[in-house]
Amino acid sequence: MTDSDKNCPHCGTHIDEHPASRCLRGWVATSVMGWRVINGKDGLPTHVITDTGEHFYLLLDLGPMWFPDLDIAASWEVVMYLTRQNYVFSLTLGTFHEALFRIFLHLLKDKGEGRSSFREDNEGCLAICRAAIKASPKSGSIP
Ligand SMILES: [Zn+2]
Repeated sequence: MTDSDKNCPHCGTHIDEHPASRCLRGWVATSVMGWRVINGKDGLPTHVITDTGEHFYLLLDLGPMWFPDLDIAASWEVVMYLTRQNYVFSLTLGTFHEALFRIFLHLLKDKGEGRSSFREDNEGCLAICRAAIKASPKSGSIP
């Protein structure tokens, strides 16, 4: 995976800087989960179709939602999907920039490796999405 593979196929933002948003949800859906993404008129993802044919929205208040960057149940679905692909998931506590304690998250399989970290508990889902994108061999692919 080259460095440009770690830029969002929708907005071009690097994965380490990418905020929680619908284009990150679409990126995780296609590159990690292998789902189909439907884009809106603005060219950004609006909903996904899972491998079992279920539809989920990436925006609020349109219907059943899939928000792995904000919802722990959805982000855990990503972790469980990757562990079924023989990825090993681990969490460790450590220091970052000498004094700040952080939780480090790691997904590893063969050459696929994704690391991310977070400090605030509301960043855990985003950290899972970032590590999953980095670990996925398909990351950066355009849907
Ligand atoms: Zn993006």
